[in-house]
Formats: sequence, C-alpha cells, structure tokens
Amino acid sequence: MTHVVTENCTGCRFTDCVSVCPVSCFHGDDERLYIDPIACIDCGACKPLCPVSAIVEDIDLDNDQWLDVNAEKALALPVVRTKQTPLPGAEARRDVITGNA
Ligand code: SF4
Ligand code: SF4
Repeated sequence: MTHVVTENCTGCRFTDCVSVCPVSCFHGDDERLYIDPIACIDCGACKPLCPVSAIVEDIDLDNDQWLDVNAEKALALPVVRTKQTPLPGAEARRDVITGNA
C-alpha cells in the first residue's frame, strides 16, 4: 500500500506535500514529484495538503500506470525534503483545476 502522485502535479512544485512526509519519500524532476512506493508508509499526511488533489491512494487508482511511473522515477531521482518555489504559472494552473479561475 502506498500513496501515488498523479497527473495534476505536473507544473506545480508547491511542494506543501514534502514538508509533512515522515519518511522523505518524495522524489522530483524539473516538472513534478513522485512517491517511492517502498518507502511510503501510507500515513496519508501529504494528501490533504496537495492543492490540486494530485496525491491518491493506490487502491483508488483506475489502473497501475501512475503506480509504475512513481516507482520507476523515484528510483532514479533525488529526494525532495523541503518546500520549494512553485513553478511559473502554478497558481493559475491550480485555480483552473480547482475551479477558482
Ligand atoms: S503539493 Fe501536490 S501537486 Fe504540488 S508538488 Fe506536492 S504532490 Fe505535486
Ligand atoms: S502517505 Fe505519508 S509516507 Fe507516504 S508520501 Fe504521503 S506523507 Fe509520505
């Protein structure tokens, strides 16, 4: 059991999620984050902090695509432990996703 970062994370980097993870299992590239499914203890602390609802429990996925992507990418990318500057356009993108635009 793990949590998984899905498509809405692309272009965000608000990274509110990483500051509460007790096991530092978020990894990132230039566009988005991924959760290491082996390190994740499935605590759920990150999920309510994501402003674009990008984090889901694996049991709620329609298929294993994002589970596989998270597992593969997390292995190859550095850990992200601290909150970072959002990517350009992240606020506007969030407002469209949440219906506040
Ligand atoms: S807060 Fe959500 S969208 Fe932003 S970096 Fe974390 S998982 Fe991705
Ligand atoms: S569910 Fe818990 S352990 Fe897993 S990524 Fe989120 S905060 Fe970290």
